[in-house]
Amino acid sequence: MSTGAQSEAEVSDRPQPNRKKPLIRRVMPDRSQQFRRTVQFAFLGLNVWLAIEFLRWTSYFESNGQTAYVERPAGLDGWLPIAGLMNLKYFLVTRRFPTIHPSAMVLGVIFLLSSMLLKKTFCSWICPVGTVSEYLWKLGRKFFRRNIKVPRWLDIPLRSLKYLLMALFVFIVISMSAEALNDFMVAPFGIIADVKMLNFFREIGVIGVAVLASLVILSVVIQNFWCRFLCPYGALMGIVSTVSPVKVRRDPDACIDCGKCNKACPASLPVAQLLQIRSLECTGCMQCVASCPAQNALQFSLPPRKVAPNGGTFAARWRNRTLQPRMVAAALALIFFGLMGMARATGHWQTNVPRAVYMQLVPHADDYGHQESLH
Ligand code: SF4
Ligand code: SF4
Repeated sequence: MSTGAQSEAEVSDRPQPNRKKPLIRRVMPDRSQQFRRTVQFAFLGLNVWLAIEFLRWTSYFESNGQTAYVERPAGLDGWLPIAGLMNLKYFLVTRRFPTIHPSAMVLGVIFLLSSMLLKKTFCSWICPVGTVSEYLWKLGRKFFRRNIKVPRWLDIPLRSLKYLLMALFVFIVISMSAEALNDFMVAPFGIIADVKMLNFFREIGVIGVAVLASLVILSVVIQNFWCRFLCPYGALMGIVSTVSPVKVRRDPDACIDCGKCNKACPASLPVAQLLQIRSLECTGCMQCVASCPAQNALQFSLPPRKVAPNGGTFAARWRNRTLQPRMVAAALALIFFGLMGMARATGHWQTNVPRAVYMQLVPHADDYGHQESLH
């Protein structure tokens, strides 16, 4: 006997016959991309603010207290995903909350949870690198009228690079004991990992500039170059997103097989041939949904009912199952600000290090390697 979930999965990969059907146009225009852009730019702005505050915070210590002191912006720890993973393992093993960069763990959990519930929306709605990457390929398309399409024989091995990188980081963290993780985080290197990251960019050499410039150029000419091929964080989000109950779903009864969704998908997924998008590459960007001209043909939704209630039309199967863009934005905001607020309220947000210790470490951040301990 097959379950409902099984039967849905069984038919999901089967191409649908190309039937000629009348187009029943959408009743309401799709606003998903306006909502997504708003959320993307809100988070981009938040990250710019975090960077400015962090620069002010470091300059206080580097000037030996000559500039005004501002509180360290703990949200910056979102840029320390490996510290987040290390802290998460430490917490799971010891049941003790980490004291150094706890917000890296909190933010990691927030991003993992959003991916588990809403596909990889972290990548296409929240991540500032994803936002910059998206606008770079759009810029390239505007100038050159197209982006380079990587051939399939090269696309698949290149896409696996990000999973290999992710596996390497996860393996390193998993293989460390809780004691080793703690020793690493409470040592100078762990405490000022953020300052060391800042210094990397401030003191970037010719090779670093060349690598960054290459990434920018490749991102202009190839759609989502960084996210598609190299980002280990996106790879992790993709793997956890497989359990998301919300997916892009196509209703073959309403679909007119126009193929516009295929053309719109930045992940090159064959949306028009599937009933639901289970791919690890789907970022929940809803660009396919926005491009679809037919009412109820494509939705970001929970699974539809098998039978319309009270003998209603097939469209009734989707009622209360579809996530409108404003609901996606609200759900992301709720997860993000809800968990962040809880962490702040319970004292698990800010790194717990005295100002005098930072005064000792920050101006000499470059001198501290993995092995150095606090004197
Ligand atoms: S399938 Fe749709 S939601 Fe998923 S990546 Fe492609 S366009 Fe975005
Ligand atoms: S855009 Fe895709 S889902 Fe919508 S009608 Fe065309 S083929 Fe069907």
